[in-house]
Amino acid sequence: MSYGQKNNLLSNTQLTGQSEVYMIKKVDYQLLPEAAKSFELMKIAALKDNIKIKIISSFRSFYQQEKIWNRKFKKNDSMGFSINENILKIIEYSTIPGTSRHHWGTDIDVVDDNINPEGDVLLTEKFYKNGPYVKLKKWLDENSEKFGFYLVYTKNDKRKGFEHEPWHYSYAPISKNILKELLKLDLTKLFIENKVLGSKYLTVEFIKNYKENFLLGINSELKH
Ligand SMILES: [Zn+2]
Repeated sequence: MSYGQKNNLLSNTQLTGQSEVYMIKKVDYQLLPEAAKSFELMKIAALKDNIKIKIISSFRSFYQQEKIWNRKFKKNDSMGFSINENILKIIEYSTIPGTSRHHWGTDIDVVDDNINPEGDVLLTEKFYKNGPYVKLKKWLDENSEKFGFYLVYTKNDKRKGFEHEPWHYSYAPISKNILKELLKLDLTKLFIENKVLGSKYLTVEFIKNYKENFLLGINSELKH
C-alpha cells in the first residue's frame, strides 16, 4: 500500500504516530508532502476570499498523545473515577495514543488567522451563529473538498464516537488508506509496551468496539 506517493510503504510505526520521517516540517505545521501541497493550494484560494486559514494542530506523535492521555487519566483517577469510567471519560474528546488521526500527517485543525477571539479557539460555538469563524466554516463547506479535505467529525446525530469538531479536516486521498490499514492492527501490545495508563482495560474486545464506534464514527466520505 502506498501513501499515494511513490515507494512510501506504510509501516506500523507510521500508522501509530511513532515515526515522523515522512512529514514536511513547516513553521506552523507538519504534514505529509501531498497533504501539505494541497493545503497550500487551499490556503491561497481562501486568501482570495480574504480568509487566512491557519493550522492550529497537524501531525502529533504517539508520545505527545500519550502525554495528553496519561495526564487526563491521572487527573480523573485522583477524582475517584474507576478505570473503566476514566477511559470512557477521556475518549469523549481525546483518542487513545496510537489511534489519533493527527498521527497520520493528513489531518488538520484550522481557524481563521484574521481573527483573534478571546479564549480557546477550538470551540464549536465559535463556528456557528454569530461566532468569529462562521465565514471560515462557510468557505470550507463550499470549497475544502475540491482540495481533498473533508470534515471528519460531522454534525450528525446518527454519527457515533467523538463529538462534532467543525475545525478538524482530513486529506481524504491518503487518510482513507491509512485508516483502512490501522483498523487491521492489533493495538493492545502497543499500549502495554508503552505503558499507556489503563492499558489493562484496553483489551482486544474494548478496542474492537472502539474501532467500530469511534475510529469509524466519521464522515462516510473518509471510509472505504
Ligand atoms: Zn483535530
